[in-house]
Amino acid sequence: MEQGKIYLSPEHEVVRDNDKCIRCQVCERQCANKVHSYDADIDKMLACDENCVNCQRCVSLCPTHALKIRRCENRFRENNNWNETKIRELYLQANSGGVMLGAMGTPLDYPTYWDHMLINASQVTNPSIDPLREPMETRTFLGKKNQKPERDANGKIITKFKSPQIELDVPVMFSAMSYGSISYNAHESLARAATELGTCYNTGEGGLHEDFYKYGPNTIVQVASGRFGVHGDYLMAGAAIEIKMGQGAKPGIGGHLPGRKVGPDVSRTRMIPEGSDAISPAPHHDIYSIEDLRQLVYSLKEATAYTKPVIVKISAVHNVAAIASGIARSGADIIAIDGFKGGTGAAPSRIRDNVGIPIEVALAAVDARLREEGIRDNVSVVIGGSIHSSSDVVKAIALGADAVYIGTASLLALGCHLCRSCHLNKCNWGIATQEPDLVKRLNPDWGYKRLVNLVSAWKHEIMEMMGGMGINSIEALRGNHLMLRGVGLNEKELELLGIKHAGENI
Ligand code: SF4
Ligand code: SF4
Repeated sequence: MEQGKIYLSPEHEVVRDNDKCIRCQVCERQCANKVHSYDADIDKMLACDENCVNCQRCVSLCPTHALKIRRCENRFRENNNWNETKIRELYLQANSGGVMLGAMGTPLDYPTYWDHMLINASQVTNPSIDPLREPMETRTFLGKKNQKPERDANGKIITKFKSPQIELDVPVMFSAMSYGSISYNAHESLARAATELGTCYNTGEGGLHEDFYKYGPNTIVQVASGRFGVHGDYLMAGAAIEIKMGQGAKPGIGGHLPGRKVGPDVSRTRMIPEGSDAISPAPHHDIYSIEDLRQLVYSLKEATAYTKPVIVKISAVHNVAAIASGIARSGADIIAIDGFKGGTGAAPSRIRDNVGIPIEVALAAVDARLREEGIRDNVSVVIGGSIHSSSDVVKAIALGADAVYIGTASLLALGCHLCRSCHLNKCNWGIATQEPDLVKRLNPDWGYKRLVNLVSAWKHEIMEMMGGMGINSIEALRGNHLMLRGVGLNEKELELLGIKHAGENI
C-alpha cells in the first residue's frame, strides 16, 4: 500500500466457476483493464478485482458461462448518514486530491417524472386510429414556423416554410457525442443509422471527420466554446448548426477530452496537436448576454448563407424558461434543453449529481413561457437527458417538445454496458475509446443496424400510442397536456408540469 493512502477494497468481485472454466483465456484477451490472467504453474485463471469496472465483456464472451461479476460484499461501516458511496468517495479524494469524475449521467435517485405520467387512450366517442391501416404522420420539422398564412402573387397559400428546417421522419435524434469521446466506429454507426432512419446525429464539439461529410444532410454540426474543428466547410456540411452553451451533465462548466484520447485522426479533426488535452472553456468568451448570443447566431447564419437552422443548446437550470425566452428572441431556430440525467462522457460527479433541474419540469416551464409570450412558433424545442423508451418520447412531445435527443439509449443499443468508465479510454465494447484494437470490436455494420432496429421499434410504438389517443400526427400531439395525467405527484409538481392528476376530468 502506498504510504499515506487508505486501501479501498474493490467495488466489484470476479466470481469464476473453476469447474466450468476451460482456461481458454478469452476473458484475458478481451479485458483492456487487465483483470484476468492465466497462471500456468497452477493451471488456473486468476482475477485482479481492483481493475474490474464491471463492463460485462468477459461475462458476455465466456464460452462456458463460467463468470459472474458481483458487487463486492465487503462494506464500510455504513449508517444512515454516511453510506458506502460517500465514505468511498471521501477516501478517494483524500488519497488523490482530485475531482471525482463519472460518466453516463447522475446515478442518484431523483424523481423521473416520465414514470409518474400516464398517457390517455380513446374510448367510444373519439375513435382510436389503427396505424397499420390508416395514415399516421411521424414526420416533424424543426425550425422557425411561418407566423401567419401567406399567399403568392396568384393568391395561392404558400405551403413552404420561409426559414430553413430540419426534416425528421421520426422525432428522435442522436445526441451530441464528439469524435474523440466516442470512437470512429461508433460515429459511423450513428451517422449511417441517422441517414437510414431519416433523422440526425450530432458531431458534438469534436469537429467532423472527413469520411463523414457524406452524411451531412443527417448531421448536426456543433460549435462549442472550444471551437474545435470549426471552419467554413464544416458549417456548410451539416443540416443544422448547434451552439453548445451548456450540457446537462455539467451545467456551467466546460469540457475536457484527455490527451490520451487525442490520436492522429482526432487531432486532425479537432485541429489541435496530437496528445494535447482538449479543454473547452466554461463560457464562450464572446458571449456574455443574449445580444452577444444573437451575434454568434447571425454570424453562423451569414457564414452559411441563411441555409441552415441554428440550434442553441442549454442545460436545464433554475431559470431555464427566461433563458429560453431570450434564446427565442436571439434569432435561433431551435432550442435544445439537456437534463442532468443525460450525459455520456465524463463529468465531475459533484456537478453532475447536484446541479440543474429535472428535464420534464424544465420542458413544461419553457413551453409554457414561450406560449405565454406568443413566441412558441419562433422556435422548436428539443429535449434530451433521460429518454429511455418510446413512451418517454410520447410524453415529452405531449409536454411540449418537438423532438428528443437520445444519447445513453443509443450507446446502449451499440452494446454499452453502463460501466461508467468512458474517461479511461479502455471501453471494452469499442465505443468510448480511441485504442485501435478496442475500436474494431464495434462493427459499424451491425452497430448501425441495431440503432435502426431500436428507433424503428420506437417509431412503431409511438404510432400505436398516438393511434390509441386518436391522434394521427406528431404536430397534433405536441403540447397536448390533456393527453397526460399524473400519478404519485403533489399539487406543486402537477402545477409545474401543467398536467392534471389521474382521475381528474377535462
Ligand atoms: S473466458 Fe470463461 S472459460 Fe475462458 S478462461 Fe475466462 S472464465 Fe475460463
Ligand atoms: S461506453 Fe464503454 S466505457 Fe462508457 S459506460 Fe459504456 S461500456 Fe462503459
